[in-house]
Amino acid sequence: MDYRVLLYYKYVPIEDPETLTKEHLKFCKELGLKGRIHIGAEGINGTVSGTVEQTDAYMAAMREHPLFSDMVFKIDEAEGHAFKKMHVRHRKQIVNLSLEEDVNPNELTGNYLEPKEFFEKMQDHNTIVIDVRNDYEYDLGHFRGAVRPDVKTFRDTPEWFRKNKDKFEGKTILTYCTGGIRCEKFSGWLKREGFEDVHQLHGGIVTYGKDPEVKGQLWDGKCYVFDERISVPVNQVEHVIVARDYFDGQPCERYVNCANPECNKQIICSEENEHKYLRGCTHECRVHPRNLYVKEHGLTEAQIKERLAAIGEELVHA
Ligand SMILES: [Zn+2]
Repeated sequence: MDYRVLLYYKYVPIEDPETLTKEHLKFCKELGLKGRIHIGAEGINGTVSGTVEQTDAYMAAMREHPLFSDMVFKIDEAEGHAFKKMHVRHRKQIVNLSLEEDVNPNELTGNYLEPKEFFEKMQDHNTIVIDVRNDYEYDLGHFRGAVRPDVKTFRDTPEWFRKNKDKFEGKTILTYCTGGIRCEKFSGWLKREGFEDVHQLHGGIVTYGKDPEVKGQLWDGKCYVFDERISVPVNQVEHVIVARDYFDGQPCERYVNCANPECNKQIICSEENEHKYLRGCTHECRVHPRNLYVKEHGLTEAQIKERLAAIGEELVHA
């Protein structure tokens, strides 16, 4: 059967988001959709999967809704559901950039660039391209030459910007993110900080990758997505691998979660290294008593010791 994944958002004032959240969950479940939707007073942000019929019915219903009649859906073909369950949650903010004072993109945001315009402007010598995502998203793929803010979480980005302000002064600033929702706020924040020449990629990376003219060019690697697919392709012309294996630094685009359930950190690693390192990001994670890799593969203590010995580690009982 043919499935689809829909990605969409809209900043629009919602008077009673709690009630809409409940109604929307019921409606999505009735349709048989799976996915994750956040609803707040500032709007809606969702990714859902379903059959062609289910997603068609959803889009048609949304277009009947007075608040969402002009919703833009990014549609991906898929082989099955991209989620296990259907969640609709009420959130104070539909995208949280942890700004001290939030930005309303309907009042203040950067200039929208269509893929072709972004592609051209990106190549101007006076342009700086900023990735508005998390570090693990950047590591799997990004626009060639894009700046990766040197921060652990997005919360620290404003401070990083203020510290590096002189690097951006007088430049044309381009921002991009997966579907465009984060840029709406962040480019608005940049304008509030006093930067004037600020632009955002309209529709985000996923729209850019589907554009028939630019075909995702100047994108390297893959685009991280927040569903079971983990990543989607972008550049239809060439595929340059930029991600590196956590253990040996070799080109690799395979994401796994650390097998220590208390860590669960996402790491890029080959199948070979997953076996070699018991899918643990550190020694502590490898020997964790509840290591999921050990459980899945039914390894005996002798086998664990053997694997550890091969990488120069020991199993020491506390
Ligand atoms: Zn770990």
